[in-house]
Amino acid sequence: MKKVVKFGGSSLASAEQFKKVGAIIQADESRVYVIPSAPGKRFSDDTKVTDMLLHVYQTACEGKDIDDEIKAIKARYDEIIEGLGLSDFSLDSDFEVIAKTLREEPEKDYAASRGEYLNGKIMAAYLGIQFIDSAEVIFFNEEGKLNSYKTEKVLAAKLAEYDRAVIPGFYGLGKNGKVKTFSRGGSDVTGSIVAQAARADVYENWTDVSGFLISDPRIVPNPKPIKFITYRELRELSYMGASVLHEDAIFPVRQCGIPINIRNTNIPSDEGTWIVETTARKQEQVITGIAGKKDFCTVFISKAMMNSEIGFCRKVLQAFEENQISVEHMPSGIDTMTVVVHEDEFMHKEQKVISAIHRLAAPDAIEIESGLALVAVVGRGMKSASGTAGKLCNALANAGINIKMIDQGSSELNIIVGVRNEDFETATKAIYNTFVTE
Ligand code: ASP
Repeated sequence: MKKVVKFGGSSLASAEQFKKVGAIIQADESRVYVIPSAPGKRFSDDTKVTDMLLHVYQTACEGKDIDDEIKAIKARYDEIIEGLGLSDFSLDSDFEVIAKTLREEPEKDYAASRGEYLNGKIMAAYLGIQFIDSAEVIFFNEEGKLNSYKTEKVLAAKLAEYDRAVIPGFYGLGKNGKVKTFSRGGSDVTGSIVAQAARADVYENWTDVSGFLISDPRIVPNPKPIKFITYRELRELSYMGASVLHEDAIFPVRQCGIPINIRNTNIPSDEGTWIVETTARKQEQVITGIAGKKDFCTVFISKAMMNSEIGFCRKVLQAFEENQISVEHMPSGIDTMTVVVHEDEFMHKEQKVISAIHRLAAPDAIEIESGLALVAVVGRGMKSASGTAGKLCNALANAGINIKMIDQGSSELNIIVGVRNEDFETATKAIYNTFVTE
């Protein structure tokens, strides 16, 4: 059994948090490869080290003195080193190199990446295991995308040399020979890449929540946790804004069927959420999760005999494409079709789009409406359960909510309902209460 364990910034924000992480790693000898983030927030209005580093970069670019900012960052690390009692260990020489580099040749990604680099060094010293610099084993191509082929080859060979190691998250080496980072939150991606290269049995992603909840706790009080979720269900929920994990972290592990287990560093006894390719486990309820977003617009297009006009949909969609607007959903009837778009992308171009639709598709009429919220009800169980849509509509009718749109995904994995923005919270609660029983 081999596990790759990634710890987020809040799990490593202080010496106290580091100790919890140390105990978690020691509690299970299969936790062999460790991916640390940079120190995150210790309290709610604290600043993440990554943000401090990005600020130093700005200051350096303006040609101003960076000494005080570097000192403040160093203090964050020294506090951790002291708190852990690592008396023979110091990051002094690393800080000299970093300060010199930032003064002479400031690079944004290099600056941002040092948070993970330095935390990785502390982690390796604390655990007494090998440190592997991610710039030597993770590679990007010319387009700035991960070079999976080269990375997997080099990383797998390197990992084979060490039974246990620390590989800092968030960065690798760009095609130009300089450090390059993933987008924010990218340590999740590093963890996934390492899990793939190590052919791990599990990718554990430790954070400050006990996995996913069925619904947003700001809307539904104390929602139940999700124990098992498939990659595809997660994708549907993430699209609607439920976020715990970086989106790009799914692909590497998914490719080789490695499950992800989201765990809570502060409550390690919680099982957390398992993200898996497929599972035969019975769920307590038909649905896995509910997520939603406000502020969509509907563009309602009607034309008599639309159904027999070949190419009509394409012409309508072309109007959106010409205006660089992405189409979110497209429920259609016989003589009508509705295009759902994001309000912020659409509003300032609405008249252009309308005239383009008229020019391209010559419809009878177009109506637009804003203030639509979409609620996605996601669940692999829907496929084999009957009456889900009926139950959903009843729940909303009983709550006095008018359904503006309903769209069942062709994979029978989700049903999306459109309601007015002001009904969003009530709709979410009504759906939760109907499907999830205590
Ligand atoms: N430290 C980086 C960030 O704040 C990357 C990460 O934590 O995953 O975005």
